[in-house]
Amino acid sequence: MTTAPAVDAPRPAARPELDPEPRGAAEKILIAVFTGVPFLALIAAVPLAWGHFLGWTDVALTAVLYFISAAGITVGYHRYFTHGSFKANRPLKIALAVAGSLAMEGPVITWVADHRRHHKHSDKEMDPHSPWRFGDDWKALAKGLAWAHYGWLFNPNRTSKRRFAKDLLDDRDITFIHRWFPGLVAVSLLTPALLGGLITWSWQGALTGLFWAGLVRITLVHHVTWSINSICHTFGKEDFEVRDKSRNVWWLAIPSLGESWHNLHHSDPTCARHGVLKGQIDISAGVIRGFEKAGWARDVRWPDERRLAAKRTKRPA
Ligand SMILES: [Zn+2]
Ligand SMILES: [Zn+2]
Repeated sequence: MTTAPAVDAPRPAARPELDPEPRGAAEKILIAVFTGVPFLALIAAVPLAWGHFLGWTDVALTAVLYFISAAGITVGYHRYFTHGSFKANRPLKIALAVAGSLAMEGPVITWVADHRRHHKHSDKEMDPHSPWRFGDDWKALAKGLAWAHYGWLFNPNRTSKRRFAKDLLDDRDITFIHRWFPGLVAVSLLTPALLGGLITWSWQGALTGLFWAGLVRITLVHHVTWSINSICHTFGKEDFEVRDKSRNVWWLAIPSLGESWHNLHHSDPTCARHGVLKGQIDISAGVIRGFEKAGWARDVRWPDERRLAAKRTKRPA
């Protein structure tokens, strides 16, 4: 009698793309704690805000740290490190790797390797987080959405960093920041506590700073990032030709700092601007423009009208 292979059992041909060392129980527990505890904070946030456990200092700290850590992911981890949409000077490169780490989505080289594998196999068998993994009837899709949003983080199969991110493994600044990821997680949680305490000069300020600008902010960044993998590969508009299910989702444009124009991104992955059509707000592209004007970024791959026109979907919208 033969048994069916586990759903994520790698085919022999796929093995070079995966890390020979599978994800162990200890790492899975850490992922569960560092994603679960912030989420519990979000659930507790509503009654606590009602009970005057939220002040203007908390709101300001949350907004600033949300912007720094989310842009660290979108501009840093994603558009710069994964896709090379622009070249950065050394201080900017280091700042982007640190800012991305503050989002607590894993160390930079791991994130980049997973995301490059996603682009190579998008919505196919070896995609680490496709919502279409289990099929396309509504039950399979509901399961797939949960997988693409969160479940895939616990997959024992890890992406090979050597195969997908050798450029970063060869960069000593980046390997140093990658190794220091646990320290940066501590910085991400303790900085809002410290600032909240100092600004309000109170222990309560430290506690509410940790709660709002630490935990609640982290879970917001997590779920917005994960929505790109789940929602933006399922719902939305196909403005550009792609071979996968990536779509443009307008209502996530502002919280995702422009990443939800994900259909264009899969159509033209190295483009520094994802919101290229009229009215498509892309805050990350504005940040890159700022870096370019300051002289910290150069060779930015801005949209090319002719290339975009060739990629527009032919059928009427
Ligand atoms: Zn995608
Ligand atoms: Zn990408």
